[in-house]
Amino acid sequence: MRAWSVRRPGPARGWPMVLEHRPVPAPADDELLVRVRACGVCRTDLHVAEGDLPVHRPGVVPGHEVVGEVVALGAAVTGFSLGERVGVAWLRGTCGECRYCLAGRENLCPYSVYTGWDEDGGYAEFATVPADFAYRLPEGYPDEKLAPLLCAGIIGYRALRRAELPDGGRLGIYGFGASGHLTAQVALAAGAHVSVFTRSPHARELALDLGVAWAGGAADRPPEPLDAAILFAPAGELVPPALEALDWGGVLVLAGIHLTDVPPLNYQRHLYGERTVRSVTANTRADGAEFLGLAARVPLRVRTTAYDLGAADHALADLAEDRVTGAAVLLSA
Ligand SMILES: [Zn+2]
Ligand SMILES: [Zn+2]
Repeated sequence: MRAWSVRRPGPARGWPMVLEHRPVPAPADDELLVRVRACGVCRTDLHVAEGDLPVHRPGVVPGHEVVGEVVALGAAVTGFSLGERVGVAWLRGTCGECRYCLAGRENLCPYSVYTGWDEDGGYAEFATVPADFAYRLPEGYPDEKLAPLLCAGIIGYRALRRAELPDGGRLGIYGFGASGHLTAQVALAAGAHVSVFTRSPHARELALDLGVAWAGGAADRPPEPLDAAILFAPAGELVPPALEALDWGGVLVLAGIHLTDVPPLNYQRHLYGERTVRSVTANTRADGAEFLGLAARVPLRVRTTAYDLGAADHALADLAEDRVTGAAVLLSA
């Protein structure tokens, strides 16, 4: 099979991935083998390829927004059948025994493993997934539109829950890529008043088209103070303006896995008035199942740009250079 491998982590424009021919992986007893039909390109893949995240598996195949078809079942797998459409996402293993796992917070499990970082992911024609971590997918979406839901959508959903936005509240979204444009729709469907902050004019246009109340530059002042804000852009310098945009009692949620350094904060300007900063660390399987259930009830307009699997390096470079509106998705011919 064809598979992209991160051989020399470094800037995307230096082509850190190479396209290889590899044997199709064999599923372990508890795994499914999936023929990949679509795989979203997430910013985390960029962090893996560029070396912002430490190497966990040398030569790893990135990709953790996989939509595919089950083509083989491990000997111990029950509950899935050949030909079924399934999703493979970021979280692919937890210990099940630590105090976080036992408390329903498996996203914090220190022994967790991740697709496309600890194990090979979906920038390939086939991928494996432990059956316990495979998702059943909603009807009504083509493969290409489902892929970005599997990380961008799920993480955005968790971030929105952590924002604890009051009913009809004022939400700010900083960074309007794959996650931002999905999260905005979930918030709008729940009656939120949404403002979007992005340096990309195309993303501002998309935001207004989706029905947000206001769209401005990355660090602009919103027309009214916010009850909550979510920072999707990996830019620590946006933390102070986002905190300043909050109303007293407001919550700022940092949704990324990687953030550049946050500049010094001034207590009075940025934090006083019981403003809160929170991070988001991966997600639980329950988050994923809830969000995919919501996507089945609330039709989401998923903006995608399709690339052939063979052009994954270009997709990643385009994401690095902010040339993608919505989500980039790799399609296997
Ligand atoms: Zn655990
Ligand atoms: Zn991701």
